[in-house]
Amino acid sequence: KQLANVGVRNLQPYQAGKPIEELERELGISDIVKLASNENPLGLSSKVRAALQDTLSGLARYPDANGFYLKAKLAKKFGIAANQITLGNGSNDCLELVARTFVNDSHEVIFSQHAFVVYPLVTQAIGAKGVAVPAKDYGHDLEAMLAAITDKTRMIFIANPNNPTGTFLTTDELSAFLAKVPANVLVVLDEAYYEYVSEAERAPSFEWLAQYPNLLVSRTFSKAYGLAGLRAGYMVSHPEVADLMNRARQPFNMNSLSLRAAEVAIDDDDYLQQSVAVNAAGMEQLVAFCDKHGLPYIPSHGNFLTIEVGDNAGEIYQQLLQAGVIVRPVAGYELPRHLRVSIGLPEENEAFIRAMEQLL
Ligand code: PMP
Repeated sequence: KQLANVGVRNLQPYQAGKPIEELERELGISDIVKLASNENPLGLSSKVRAALQDTLSGLARYPDANGFYLKAKLAKKFGIAANQITLGNGSNDCLELVARTFVNDSHEVIFSQHAFVVYPLVTQAIGAKGVAVPAKDYGHDLEAMLAAITDKTRMIFIANPNNPTGTFLTTDELSAFLAKVPANVLVVLDEAYYEYVSEAERAPSFEWLAQYPNLLVSRTFSKAYGLAGLRAGYMVSHPEVADLMNRARQPFNMNSLSLRAAEVAIDDDDYLQQSVAVNAAGMEQLVAFCDKHGLPYIPSHGNFLTIEVGDNAGEIYQQLLQAGVIVRPVAGYELPRHLRVSIGLPEENEAFIRAMEQLL
């Protein structure tokens, strides 16, 4: 233990759930409903499935180390240049890469209270100091985050929408913030749930890159595109920033299957629209349940709803589990009275509602 880097030594292990099959065996239930990891309940599209099948025959070869085709597709779709893109083994990989590329143990990294767990993780792993700024109404307090900037600050993480709270910053709030961040402080805008935000409310984050070379925007194929198990994400930035990150990146960080699946998924507008529609309907279903029972919740722009169930949140989580519904406790995010419920298919949401109604 003494040989490990100090930051790593003090890290708390990521709390991963048990494999579903194992839980089903333990509980003697065969149809567990998992609403715990903000995954896409639609499953793989038939187009992606067919593309994966076609890719199998090439798997003895290394993947394309530069993700040429995927970058070309992303560039075309978003009106950006391929040399602004860094691909990742999920967007988590990009979040770690940006920290490894730009941050060292003399730096401070700012994020919000209740922000995504990977920010403190990657910060601490490289020995930098994480500065958690108290949240405002469960969301980012941008004024307080600006006030927390010191000479040592190298980076600020912002998730929009945020996980696990689902809170959202408007375009005006974000653009006013960016204008006040010093040019030597990097801003990582994590848009993992971007596609669930209505088009009218989405920030023009890629357009801001022309004005702010210190801005980096990450997105993922894990949520609305439904590829969580394949691990595909990307970061868009100034080309020089992308160049540095691509130097530090492992050459084959996206595999042949994830590259091909993402190339197909990015063109599959039908699937994306269906994801968003299923999510909107499921959100209504869960919100109606909360309203009916007077349960407070944090209004969410993501594919999940974080509900204030009370002091016995841990117990309720356990009881839901016994009833065959897995949700996510968020006590580790300083939300001990809440549970985060991912939006599922209508019948999965209904299973959660029925199990909750038994407990209430
Ligand atoms: N950012 C946020 C805010 C997230 O909630 C998640 C997924 N839980 C990610 C990034 C990472 O997703 P992935 O690595 O699957 O792209």
